Amino acid sequence: MNTPRKLAAGNWKMNGFRADLQEARNLASDFADPSVDIVLCPPATLVGAMAAALVGSGVRVGGQDCHVKPAGAHTGDISAAMLADAGARYVIVGHSERRADHGETSAIVAQKATAAQSAGLVAIICVGETEAERDAGKTLEVVIQQLVASLPETAQASNTVVAYEPVWAIGTGRTPTRDQIAQVHDSLRDHLPDGAISLLYGGSVKPSNAAEIFAIPNVDGALVGGASLKADDFSAIIAALAQA
Ligand code: PEP
Repeated sequence: MNTPRKLAAGNWKMNGFRADLQEARNLASDFADPSVDIVLCPPATLVGAMAAALVGSGVRVGGQDCHVKPAGAHTGDISAAMLADAGARYVIVGHSERRADHGETSAIVAQKATAAQSAGLVAIICVGETEAERDAGKTLEVVIQQLVASLPETAQASNTVVAYEPVWAIGTGRTPTRDQIAQVHDSLRDHLPDGAISLLYGGSVKPSNAAEIFAIPNVDGALVGGASLKADDFSAIIAALAQA
């Protein structure tokens, strides 16, 4: 059976200007380990420039969102085909900030993942519970419902990655316990149609906690926000993943 690839994905969110491309170049020159796939997801304005800056480096580029349609009258939106045309290989869909800020439902996320796959991109599908849902004992119910409703039927390891990102851990410096992450990842793994789909943890991953998180069974890598903006920090996280 194929095993999941290790993957470190950096989500720059709405951060980054052309001057910051040097951080991406630094990361690429710092780190080249064939056992780890590395992706940087800058804001859409930098996707093309970053893809050009990283040609031949082994570090790939991703978008942070895509429209469900390949083209058309959708002012301000970007299609998966456009991201692919700009040099992207991945796209994040269903990040909790998009679910919250833009009212994206899991049904929409599934359409976006399908659009990504049709354009030849790998969809990084995010799921995660809020703090209130965790406190109510609903974590597994919520994340499995999100997963099942967000995952297209076409999902397989070559076109899909799943990221478990507890909403309350994103950008807060708080992380779930080892057992909490293990419980969710074991359950997500049981619901994935292809055992080789990479399963990432995301939420306040940093150099100081990366090794501990990557030692958890069924954690194949991380989706990293804040710590991906600094090449040194992201490199340290990638090194921890390579050693896991
Ligand atoms: C994220 O937004 O995907 C994320 C994981 O952010 P941070 O690492 O900053 O918590």
